[in-house]
Amino acid sequence: MNISLTVEQEQIIQDVRAFVEEEVRPFATHFEEQQALPKDLIQKMAARGYLGATFPKKYGGLELDPITYGLFTEEIGKGDSNTRGLITVHVSLAGECILKWGTREQVEYWIPQMVQGKKIGAFALTEPDVGTDAKSVQTTYVKDGSNYIINGRKKWISFGDIADFFVLIASNEGKVTAFIVERERKGLNTSPIPGLLAGKASHIAEIELNNVVVPEANILGRLGAGFTYVVNTALDHGRYSIAWSGVSLAQAALEAMVSYSRQRSQFGKKLRTYQFIQGMIADAVTKTHAARSLCLRAGELRKNGDPEAIIETSLAKYYASKIAMDITIDAVQVHGGNGCYNKYPVERYFREAKILEIIEGTSQVQQEIIAGYGIKKYYTRRES
Ligand SMILES: Cc1cc2nc3c(=O)[nH]c(=O)nc-3n(C[C@H](O)[C@H](O)[C@H](O)COP(=O)(O)OP(=O)(O)OC[C@H]3O[C@@H](n4cnc5c(N)ncnc54)[C@H](O)[C@@H]3O)c2cc1C
Repeated sequence: MNISLTVEQEQIIQDVRAFVEEEVRPFATHFEEQQALPKDLIQKMAARGYLGATFPKKYGGLELDPITYGLFTEEIGKGDSNTRGLITVHVSLAGECILKWGTREQVEYWIPQMVQGKKIGAFALTEPDVGTDAKSVQTTYVKDGSNYIINGRKKWISFGDIADFFVLIASNEGKVTAFIVERERKGLNTSPIPGLLAGKASHIAEIELNNVVVPEANILGRLGAGFTYVVNTALDHGRYSIAWSGVSLAQAALEAMVSYSRQRSQFGKKLRTYQFIQGMIADAVTKTHAARSLCLRAGELRKNGDPEAIIETSLAKYYASKIAMDITIDAVQVHGGNGCYNKYPVERYFREAKILEIIEGTSQVQQEIIAGYGIKKYYTRRES
């Protein structure tokens, strides 16, 4: 699909493609084995402005519009989901929330340092006993003079083990509030979660908060508006990023599937000549194009500030993560035994695709949102 980009946008996409080819894709398996993204990779990303991909230029960011940001996300995601995950969490979740709801002081303090990679941000919503039902978070805050005291536990926090600060969601008798909580606060401890299916190099951690004291100035948005303001902003931006991540895995798996089927022969013929293999390729091409179209549509609406952008983003996230799963399963199938072996990247794509159906609102949550929209929008009073 030809997307018309300005020279500057085209340049950024070419740069990130070259960067991924040189610094990311060849090392994706190594990152998993090390269970870490190298610090110098993060600093190289910062030096190129990637850690401020959508942030305003006045703070050092690249100020990418939604479409270019989507294409940028796709390029990184094709190379490695952990590296892409850093962008999702740091830029789309933590950064966008601060930009949208932060005070001038908060924006001017955090955003330039985030661009420079001096402060890595994470988003801490999920807890051991609270996931989808996010409004019911059990982490508590209570007022103490001009401070707030936070107690509780957060789980599955991407980059939680290396983040310098957390946009953290807590509740006081149902009044949900977002706080910026710095790692060095007394009583805050993180521990890595080993044994993950994917996201192995995403520094996923559990966070414990024991009487962590934060000043009033660390409230992000308004007291009691943590869900309506901050969580909704984070999920909307996060979903857009994950939608493009689905496209990236689908595209990478499609390319791998086609290449393998053109190289491998059985019964004296290339795999690509068999109709059952062609069926999988045809479905993968169609679904990848359809998912990219949904992402571009969501991006266009986001660029224009259209209120439909939110639902179209959910649609794109739901569909792209679903087809990423389908296509990566088929890519493993086309590779046969080699597809189950980590010397071939489809084994990793397959594991990474599953995560996309769970994070930023599971597929069931997206279905609920989309069904609610459809039931309202497509009701006609005709009897038959
Ligand atoms: C790799 C990874 C990285 C993550 N990173 C972060 C992060 O950075 N920050 C963060 O805060 N969280 C993070 N999470 C957590 C993630 O957001 C949650 O796992 C997700 O929201 C689902 O919550 P849960 O795991 O508690 O599942 P549950 O909410 O217990 O759901 C279990 C199943 O029940 C279904 N279900 C639940 N409620 C309903 C319903 N009403 N109707 C129909 N079906 C329903 C769900 O769709 C799911 O299939 C991460 C998770 C993973 C795996």
